[in-house]
Amino acid sequence: MVYFNVTGMSGNQPPQSAPEPNSTRSDLEVLQDRFDRLKLVTMALWTFVRDEKGITEDQLMERVKEIDAFDGSKDGKLKIGIRKCGKCGKALNPKFEKCLYCGFVTPASSIFETF
Ligand SMILES: [Zn+2]
Repeated sequence: MVYFNVTGMSGNQPPQSAPEPNSTRSDLEVLQDRFDRLKLVTMALWTFVRDEKGITEDQLMERVKEIDAFDGSKDGKLKIGIRKCGKCGKALNPKFEKCLYCGFVTPASSIFETF
């Protein structure tokens, strides 16, 4: 079984602490750090799936292409449209469970609609 060589990992501790708020770091640098950490966690999750389910990276790439087309554009990104309130039809703010206009709670059809 091959794992990626990531130094600094031990026990249940994250490999590095979250960046402290720091006025010298730009938003772009903070986002880059968060993206790199997300990539690390995604890769770790992928190794579990690969090892447990026997799925190849070619199969993963094929699935990514399929899902990429869900939003109508094969552009390497998935842009899920803005959800609308099931009662009044106004655009829902993904940060709030209830419609800001009428208070109706529209259930999400996918966890990926919630962020
Ligand atoms: Zn509403």
